[in-house]
Amino acid sequence: MSVTGPRLQPTLFERSRPGRGGGKIPHPPKDALDRLPTEARRATPPALPEMNEPDVVRHYVNLSQLNFAVDTGFYPLGSCTMKFNPKLNEWAARLPGFAELHPLAPDEIAQGTLQLLWELEQALAEISGMRAVTLQPAAGAQGELTGILMIRAYHRERGDLGRDEVLVPDSSHGTNPATASMAGYRTITIPSAPDGGVDVDKFRAALGPRTAAVMITNPSTLGLFESRIGELLAAVHEAGALAYMDGANLNAILGRFKPGEAGFDVMHFNVHKTFSTPHGGGGPGAGPVGVGERLLPYLPTPRVLAQDDGTFRLERPDERPTSIGRMRSFVGNTGVLVRAYAYIRAHGGSGLREVSDDAVLAANYLKSRLADTFDLPYDRPCKHEFVASAATLKARTGVRTLDLAKRLIDFGFHPPTIYFPLIVDEGMLIEPTETESAETLDAFADALIAIAAEAESTPELVKTAPHTAPVKRLDEATAARQPNLRWRPMAGAATPCPD
Ligand SMILES: *Cc1c(COP(=O)(O)O)cnc(C)c1O
Repeated sequence: MSVTGPRLQPTLFERSRPGRGGGKIPHPPKDALDRLPTEARRATPPALPEMNEPDVVRHYVNLSQLNFAVDTGFYPLGSCTMKFNPKLNEWAARLPGFAELHPLAPDEIAQGTLQLLWELEQALAEISGMRAVTLQPAAGAQGELTGILMIRAYHRERGDLGRDEVLVPDSSHGTNPATASMAGYRTITIPSAPDGGVDVDKFRAALGPRTAAVMITNPSTLGLFESRIGELLAAVHEAGALAYMDGANLNAILGRFKPGEAGFDVMHFNVHKTFSTPHGGGGPGAGPVGVGERLLPYLPTPRVLAQDDGTFRLERPDERPTSIGRMRSFVGNTGVLVRAYAYIRAHGGSGLREVSDDAVLAANYLKSRLADTFDLPYDRPCKHEFVASAATLKARTGVRTLDLAKRLIDFGFHPPTIYFPLIVDEGMLIEPTETESAETLDAFADALIAIAAEAESTPELVKTAPHTAPVKRLDEATAARQPNLRWRPMAGAATPCPD
C-alpha cells in the first residue's frame, strides 16, 4: 500500500527543464563572465534545477500547505504550549533596529537592544520571584544544562565534592535526566504517588549527602500542581542540595505562583512556549534561566549591566571569575527575546495572570467534556493540561491511542501528545491553551467523542487512519532507526518519493 497521497509533488530537480529560467539580471555587461578570474570559474555548471518563477513559488507555497500550524488549526500538543502567537510580536522582531543589528556591534550603538534585554530580564525575574536572569540559553534543554552547571559550580566552590546524584520524578520530561547525565551526574528516578504528585516518602528516602540537586516540574507533566512543594523544598535544602524547577509549564501559573518565592534555587523559562514564539519546527527558541541568591555568582557571562548614567553595557569576559562562562554565542536568540518582550509588555501583570487563568479554565473545560468517553487517571482539577487515557476503550475495541491520534488528523486537528508521560497507559496529554474559543474546544471534544464511537462501530476505519492526509500511516520505528533522508531520482513519473 502506498503511504503517500496525490498532494505530494515531485522535487524541483524532477521538474527542471534544460534552458528554462526565471531570474533576469537587468542589462548585464557583455564581459560579465570575463571579469571573474579564470581560476574562480566553474568548469561545469552547477546542478541547479532550471524552472520559471511561478513554478518555483507554487512549489514552495503548496509544500507549505502540507504543514500543520497553529495558524491553520487547533494544536493541543501537551507539554508544548502551542498557543497562538500574536502577529504584533512579528512586527516588533522585524524592526530594523533589532533585526539588522550586527551581533558584534559595540555597546554604544546597541543601546536599544541592550535595554530591551535588560528589561526582559527584570520582567522574568519579577514573574518568577528569582533574583536575576540570563537570557543566553537557546532553548529549555540548554537552560537546564546552564542551571545544573551552576549548581555543580556552587557545590565545587564550597568543597562539597561528594554530591554526584540528581533526583528526577518519573513523570519528568526526558531532557531532565539527559541534562543531569550531561553534567556528569547519576540520575535517581523518584516514583509518583497514586495522586500524580511526587511520592514524598520515597523522595525523602532518596535525598542525602550525595544529592546535588532535584529537578521538579511544577505543575508537573501530568498537568497537576505539586501541592506539597513547600515540604519537598525544605527537605531538599535540609539535605544540602539545591532545587531546580523545570519551568516549561509556566503558562499555568503566571501571577499565581512564584518559584523563587517558594524556595526554588534556579529555573528555566521556555520563552517559545509561554511567551509566544512560533515553535514546533525545531526552533529557534530561548530558554532563559532565573536564579536565587545562592547561584547569582555563577550566571553565564556576559550579563547585561545597567549603569548609573542610564546606559547599558555587556560584562567584560574577565569581569566575574565565578561565572560558569559562556553558554551560547553572543547574547542569545535576540529575535525570540524581542517577541517575548512584546508579549509581556502587551499583556502587563494582570494580563499575564489572565492568560494562566484562561489556560487552566480551558483545560478543565475540555477535561470535563471528555470525562464520559475516556479514563481520567487523576480525578482532581488540572492546571493548563491534563492526561486522558484510552485504556478502557482499547480493551473493548482494540483501538489504541495512536489510532485515535491518527484519526484526529482526518478531522482537521493536530493530535495531542501521546504516550507521554510514560507512566500513563494509553495516555494522551491534552493542552488547549488560553488562545482558543469555546467553539474550537467544543469542536475538538466532539471530534474525539465521534472517533471513540467509530472505534466501537467501525474500528478498522480508525485503525487505518489517517485517510485524508498526504502522508498515511508510517512505520515509525523504522523511520526513527533508519531515517531515509536522501533524495533519489524517480524511476518513472508514477509516484513521488520512490522509497
Ligand atoms: C519543552 C519542555 C522541555 C524542553 O524545552 P525545549 O525548549 O524544547 O528544549 C523541558 N521540560 C518540559 C517539561 C518541557 O515541556
